[in-house]
Amino acid sequence: MEGSLTFRPKLRELGTLALVGLQMVYLTATLPPADEAAFFSMVNAQREDVVIIRARITRRNVAYSVRSVTATTAKEAVAAVVEEARATIDQKLEEHPWPAKIIVYCQRVEAIEDLAGKLGCDAYYREIDIRDGKAERLKFWMSGTKREQYIRGDACRRVILDSVMDGRNDREGCEDGEELCDVCQRQASEERREEEEDGGGDLEEDREEYDMRQRELQVENARYQATTLAAEEHEQFQDY
Ligand SMILES: [Zn+2]
Repeated sequence: MEGSLTFRPKLRELGTLALVGLQMVYLTATLPPADEAAFFSMVNAQREDVVIIRARITRRNVAYSVRSVTATTAKEAVAAVVEEARATIDQKLEEHPWPAKIIVYCQRVEAIEDLAGKLGCDAYYREIDIRDGKAERLKFWMSGTKREQYIRGDACRRVILDSVMDGRNDREGCEDGEELCDVCQRQASEERREEEEDGGGDLEEDREEYDMRQRELQVENARYQATTLAAEEHEQFQDY
């Protein structure tokens, strides 16, 4: 699917080999079940002739989370993202000191160069891969409601990710032995808090904590709305 008229056009021609009966092996890390039919048709394969070996995208040791930033202009948004990245990197470097490495991915070469310059680290990219590669997948992801859902964080990040990439719909959240995503972490700490409340405790303190959480939620909500607005107004920034 990564082949297009301008990107790796030869990839598309591979499918013609199937027409003369040649056995083909395709490897991909980015083809969701929903795109299989389109892929088979592109490579001239019949579904019933194909043997698929598919592994789940699930990585128990990866903790997924989304951080939002507040901004009213594209410039502010870029500055806010750089600041957020810097804070996250500093925090992670403290948790995992040298020789641990941190890799930051961006969607555009311009963003990579800009961010690397501001963070004072090296930038790596193979230009053509970043400019046009995975265009199909990205377009689907960027335009789809799944991306919205993933970012909004109403549901476990793994639930959305697995549903898109594996077609898996029986997941309820992060499971035993998996790093919790930020949504499940929040849920777990809320459940803990409720349990503590049930067991008595200092009501005054609980009340304060509750008020604080409500205020946090309001701020978060306002931030989300501001970001959404900013994102709509500055589509270009979304690529950053
Ligand atoms: Zn989760």
